[in-house]
Amino acid sequence: MKGVCLCGGIQFEILGTTPNLYQCHCSVCRKSTGSSSNTATIVKSEQFRWSHTNSDIQTFTLQSGYRIDFCKRCGSPVPNQLRDKELVWIPAGLLENTELKVTQHIFVSSKAHWDMIGGQATEHEEMPNLEEFVSLLKC
Ligand SMILES: [Zn+2]
Ligand SMILES: [Zn+2]
Repeated sequence: MKGVCLCGGIQFEILGTTPNLYQCHCSVCRKSTGSSSNTATIVKSEQFRWSHTNSDIQTFTLQSGYRIDFCKRCGSPVPNQLRDKELVWIPAGLLENTELKVTQHIFVSSKAHWDMIGGQATEHEEMPNLEEFVSLLKC
């Protein structure tokens, strides 16, 4: 599965099984996306490959360790490695695949009052245990 930023300068591939998506409704994701939630997935590092980069990646890190990487040219968020883990965070909007499905909502307890969550996906009040959460994202 291929992922491409808005300007095409950053491209990557996810190998193997198509992962499920999650939406994070926390206040940090709200600011960093400018929207109600951040839709993304997490895959193992071995399943991830950069395929083309001709734009620079800019990194912004909060004191908490929350990090967002984005394309310096177009501003799209781009994948980044999860701290010291062998896992890569992938922003869902960059993925070019129509089979994707949101199966988890996290930090539902801090969602904006105008954020209406619909559908059948599982809702978690906060963040589940990371290992458990990653296993929920696999098909
Ligand atoms: Zn770009
Ligand atoms: Zn969040």
